[in-house]
Formats: sequence, C-alpha cells, structure tokens
Amino acid sequence: MESVFVIALTALMIVTIICCIVTVRKKSEYSTVIRRLLNMGIIAMICYILFLLSDNLNAALLFDGMYFVCTDWMLLCLLAYVLRYGDIKIHTKLYRNVLVTFAAFDTICLLLNVRTQRMFLLEQKVHEGTGLQYWSATFQKVHYWHLGFCYFLTFLVLFFLVKKIVQTSKMYRKMYLYTLVPFLIVIAVNAACFTSDYPLDFSLLFYAVLAIVICYSSLYAVPKGLMEDTLMSVVEDFNNGIFCFDIKGKFIYANTKAYEYLQVKEGDSLPFERYFKKWKEQNPRNDMDYDEWEEQHTVKGAERDFHVEFQRVRDAKNATTGYSFKLTDRTEDIRRFREEQYLATHDRLTGLYNREYFFQKAEQIIRRKPEVERYMVCTNIKNFKLINDLFGEEMGDRVLADQAALLKYANYEDCIHGRIGPDRFAMLVAKENFNQELAEKNTGRLQYLINDANYKIQVCIGVYKIEDPTESPQVMYDKANLAIESPQEGYNKTVVYYDAKMLDRLVHEKTVVGEFDRALREKQFTMFLQPLVGADGQLVGAEALARWRHPVQGLVAPNNFIPVVEKTGLIIRLDEYMWELAAEKLSRWKAQGRGDLSISVNVSAKDFYYTDLSKVFIDLVEKYGIAPDRLNIEITETVLITDLEMHVQTMDKLRDYGFRIEIDDFGSGYSSLNMLKDVKADILKIDMLFLRETENKERSRVILSSVINMAKALDMRVVAEGVETVEQMESLRNMGCDIFQGFYFSEPVSAEEFENKYFTAKRE
Ligand code: C2E
Ligand code: MG
Ligand code: MG
Repeated sequence: MESVFVIALTALMIVTIICCIVTVRKKSEYSTVIRRLLNMGIIAMICYILFLLSDNLNAALLFDGMYFVCTDWMLLCLLAYVLRYGDIKIHTKLYRNVLVTFAAFDTICLLLNVRTQRMFLLEQKVHEGTGLQYWSATFQKVHYWHLGFCYFLTFLVLFFLVKKIVQTSKMYRKMYLYTLVPFLIVIAVNAACFTSDYPLDFSLLFYAVLAIVICYSSLYAVPKGLMEDTLMSVVEDFNNGIFCFDIKGKFIYANTKAYEYLQVKEGDSLPFERYFKKWKEQNPRNDMDYDEWEEQHTVKGAERDFHVEFQRVRDAKNATTGYSFKLTDRTEDIRRFREEQYLATHDRLTGLYNREYFFQKAEQIIRRKPEVERYMVCTNIKNFKLINDLFGEEMGDRVLADQAALLKYANYEDCIHGRIGPDRFAMLVAKENFNQELAEKNTGRLQYLINDANYKIQVCIGVYKIEDPTESPQVMYDKANLAIESPQEGYNKTVVYYDAKMLDRLVHEKTVVGEFDRALREKQFTMFLQPLVGADGQLVGAEALARWRHPVQGLVAPNNFIPVVEKTGLIIRLDEYMWELAAEKLSRWKAQGRGDLSISVNVSAKDFYYTDLSKVFIDLVEKYGIAPDRLNIEITETVLITDLEMHVQTMDKLRDYGFRIEIDDFGSGYSSLNMLKDVKADILKIDMLFLRETENKERSRVILSSVINMAKALDMRVVAEGVETVEQMESLRNMGCDIFQGFYFSEPVSAEEFENKYFTAKRE
C-alpha cells in the first residue's frame, strides 16, 4: 500500500513539476502565485516521500518536521493565490508581517524539533489493520500552535473563497468553485486521516490535485458557458439591434436593442420572423452574403433613421449556419451631419445660404432649366457701417436679419437667397415671380427698427436679367451689383436694372484711371476758358475748365473724366495743375496789361480734405505775383454738406487773404439757402440750366429775382451761368444780375483762342 501511495505521489509530483515548467512560459498576472503554490506542493511531496522512506529516527523527525513546515507555507501560498485571483485587498502589512512571521517561527520550531522534540515525537509502530511499519507521531503541546495556525489559514482561505462566491456574478462563481471544492476535499481527507490514525496522509495527493486544478483553471480554462454568457452580455450591451435566425429561418435570438428598435414585445418573435421573411421574398435566390440598406421606424413616437445590415453566418467549412441582422440607429449621426452641412452652407445670422453655397445652388438651378427667364437680384444697405457705429452692432444685426426676412417674400420654386457680403444679399428668381413693387415697398419696412427721424435706412436693389445661362453666377451677381454702384442710374432710385452701358462705364473708369498719370505728365490736360461778361457787355474774366486732349479720342469734355477722377481722388492732382495754369495765365495777362481780368477755378470736395487749400492758393499767388482777388475760387454747395465748420474756416482764411469765394451751381443742391447763412461768399453763381426745364416761366422769374435780391442783400455779386439767349440776358440784367456766362457769349475755348478773340478785339 505504501509503495502504491509513493508511486502515486511521485507521479503527481512529476505532473506538478510539468505544470510548474509550463507556467514559467505563461505570462499572466497569476503565474507567480500559482508557481509558488506548485513549488510548495512539490517540496511537500518530496519531504513526505522522504519521511515515509526514512528508517532512521532523526531523518524521520527532520522530513516530517519539514512536511509540517510545508503545510504552513502551502496554506499561505493558497491564501496568497485566493487574494490575488479574487482581487481582494486586505491589509498587506498584516498579511505579510503577522502571518509570515508566525510561519517563520513555526518553521524554526519544527526544524529544531529534530533536537528538541518539543513539537512532536516519533516512534516506529506497526499498523494493526495493514501490518504496515510506520512512524507514529505524538504531538506535544507546542505542536497545537502549529495546528491552530494551519486551521486559521484554512479558515481565511475558506472565508475569502465563500465571500467571493457570494459577491461575484453568477458566471464567475464557477471559477472560485474550482478552488473551493478540491480544497474542501483536501480538508475532509486530511481530517479523516488525522482522526482515523491511518499511517498515510492522503490529503497531500488531493493538495497536489488542487494545485494542478488551480493552475489549469486560472491560466487556461474558460469555464463552459462563460464565453457564451460573456458574449451574450456584450451583445446585449451593444448599441445596435441584433437578431438572428437558423438556416430554416427560425428565430433564435434578439438583443434588447432589437426589441426596442422594432417595437417588439418580450417573448414575441413574430415581427423578427416577418422581417426575415420579407427580406427573403426580396432576395428569392438567397445567394447574398451581405446586404445593407437604410430605413425608418417610429420608435417611442419619434421617427428614427436606421442602417440595416444583413449577414449570412458561415462556419469554418463555409457552410451556412444562419443569418443575422444588425440595426444601427443613425438618427443622431444624420442629424449631426445635416447640422454640420447646414452650418457650412448657411449664414448663421440670417439663415440664408452663404456666398459659396448660393453661387453653387444658383448654378445648379440655372443649368437645370436654362430656358427659364431669371433675374439675379442683389441688395445693398447704404452706409451700413454707419448703422453699426451709430446704433450699435446689435441693431446692425437686427437690420440684417429683418432685411433677409423681407427678401424672402418671394418663396417660389427655384427662388433662392444668399448673404454674399456683410450687408449684401442676393436672390435668384424667375422673372415672372419678381415683384418689383413689393421689393421696393419692403425696403422701406426696415425703417421701423431705427427710432431716429434723422437717419433713413436706404436699401438699393440691383437687378440683372440673366442673358447667358452659361455665365458664372458670380459674374451675374457682379452685374446686378454694378447696377447698384452705378452713380448716375442708382442715385435715389431703389431698384436699378443692369444694362450693358454700366459695364462700359466701368471699363471706361478703369481706362481713365489707368491713363491719368501719363496724361498729366504729358500735359494732355489743358485749360479752356469761358468768358465772364459784365452787365455793360465788357469782359471781366473767365472760368477755367479742364479739357483732355486725348491722343486717340481727341478733345474730351470734363463730364467724361471728372466724375471718375473725383471718385478715385485723382482730382486733387488735376486741380492743382489747373490752378497753376490759371495763375500762370493771370501773371501773363498782368504783364500784358490785362491785370483787370480774373480767372475762376473749380475746387472739388476732396481738395478740402487732402490739401491745405489756403497754403496752396497763397503760395500760387506769391509765386506768380498776382493779386488774390484775380484768382477766384469756385466751390459747389455739395462741398459744404459735410464738415461745414471746417470748410468755413478754410474759406475764411482765403477770404482774409483777399481771395474771392464763388458758390457754383447755386440751387442745384438741396440745402442751398440753409448754407448761405453760414458761408460768407463773395459771388453767387446761378446755373440757368436748373430753371430752364420749368413750364411756369413766371414762377421761375420770381424765384430768380428773389435769389438775386437776396444775394445783393447779403452783399454778394451774382453771376448767371448757362446764359444761352439774348432774352435770358436781358431779363437777368433787369433783375440786377452783375455778370453773365454762357454760350450766348462763347463756349469754353482754348486760352489761345480766348486771347485771340478778346485781346485782339480790345486792341482794335
Ligand atoms: P461748372 O463749373 O458749372 O462749369 C460750367 C459748365 O457749364 C461747363 O461745362 C460749361 O461748358 C457749361 N456751360 C457754360 N455755358 C453754358 C450754356 O450756355 N449752355 C450749356 N448747356 N452749358 C454751358 P464743362 O466745361 O463741361 O464742365 C462741366 C463741369 O465739370 C464744371 O461745371 C465743373 O464742375 C467741372 N469741371 C470742369 N473743369 C474742372 C476742373 O478743372 N476741376 C474741377 N474740380 N471741376 C471741373
Ligand atoms: Mg464752375
Ligand atoms: Mg457751374
């Protein structure tokens, strides 16, 4: 019996050693504790075998003592394993210091027992039942400390195992049972051996088995059902609805989400089966491995978007084992995508299309139906910056938002709206749907926002009738915009239609600006003079008017270039040049004995801002040695609309020096009379052309004579310009007009012609 036991123990020991070697290769967080457990088992088995084989008392005492030592350390290792595997945190110091110290103390006592025999005694006996010769141990009192320690450790191991089994999820209980059951067997066998006084300790065999089982279960085994259960719970937790069928189309499983997404009641599989049936009907050949589509369901009263994937399930040999469907709720993704798309294509403030998207959309619409007659409409809020400055950006935003809302009045098919610039909107609309009257009326509706009678919100609308549908929408918009910008047509008009001349004008403007420098350098600008005649018919002076002797176009009148150079600020250089020509001419005339004549020069609004007018004029008269009252300065009333105070100061300075200030084109603006109260001018020039059109000649006459009287009362002389007939001349003279200018006397002519005509006449 003993030899059978030793062989069995040796065999188990070899298995344990193999397990030990294998765990060396296995990289796991439990490898170390398990290896220790196995090692202790091996040592215990060696000690026990050696004890059994000992025939000398000292050897028997040593190996039996060592075997007892091993039980301490085996239990400690088992406890360490349970704590580690169960992820149980106990006070490590307590565990390490108290338990290890006690085990170490016990070890020393047991090893010293060879000499002291204070722990246990051995004597050789023959077993009555089996006739086996064996070493019988008699425990001393101290030995019970060792036993108590072992029971305590056993208790701890059992306590933690049971606690873990109670606490852990059902699936993982098995893992702890793998340890608990063999351990209980070890305890039971040990107790049985102990009480029966049988000479062999069979529990060691079971301890070895326990160590091997632990090694296998913790490092290799996945308990049956655990994988399945784990996968199942993963599938349950999926954010997708999943349901599957066997090869016959019988429903097998659906996770909770699938029930929720398809609104199926628990335990009802019919809707899933119907789903599969429908899919099969649509694919009668049943040869598809994968398919996907989008669909919509109402879930909890809300419409939701789903992405459905069908998948044929195959085994390792490629045979069909079933079918599965996966439902992914895409509602949020789609919503986010739409939101991002919206933000990328729309203006945040107004909700209209942004510039790029408007042009892109416009192109699509026009290309789709090029035969439809359409308008590209653009709007611009005049002086929008001023609204921001005066009333705050919040008000600016409200004006823009309202303007956008008003623009949308036309909500027809294919009519789109966009915000192209900060205060610029565009609309593409079919010609038949464009309601000009309403558009005009709507522009006036913004005024309610601003509670200030002095500030009028002006919206201009430019309209371009699309002639060429292949043209880029950007160009179409530019043309509509050109209509707004066009000064002649756009002034005070709300809706302006583009015409080709506007483009010509733009080209013309660009040409003028491009050629200006060279023209000035090559003295292509010349001074023409138009005589000013006194009431007695005597020449009193002339007005200097610019002409451009263009190398290709010939003599160009000011109307063709003055507005352009004025807009771009080039006028400052042209004017200074003209003033110099006039001053030079005056100095010549003075030398020729005609110092009595004066020349009037034109000064534009920009000159006031960008040059020191008084200095330039004073420098001129000093340079050419002429009297300042010969070089008259003509300003138009438009100059005085803004910054009146500043301009009055400049004019006062000039007057103080001796210059005469003339107010040109009096009556053409809208603040003429008001202005006269602040501006001290010497001469008032009334343009006859402003009165010519009227049908009521009598009323015109009354106005004219009143103005002349008023000028006299203000100590001003009156010049009537634009005098074309003898009758005009006669009646003006009767009204008290002092000086006359107009075609009746002469058109503006070159200085040479002027001198030839008048100076020669005088000499004659
Ligand atoms: P303005 O200063 O009012 O000049 C008078 C304009 O009336 C001149 O036109 C002249 O030719 C025209 N005119 C004179 N008598 C008659 C008449 O009996 N019948 C008609 N129908 N027209 C008459 P012009 O020379 O074409 O000049 C146009 C405007 O251009 C000027 O109006 C002036 O504002 C501006 N301008 C001309 N030269 C200069 C210049 O050197 N500098 C500046 N800043 N402006 C200038
Ligand atoms: Mg003038
Ligand atoms: Mg004039």
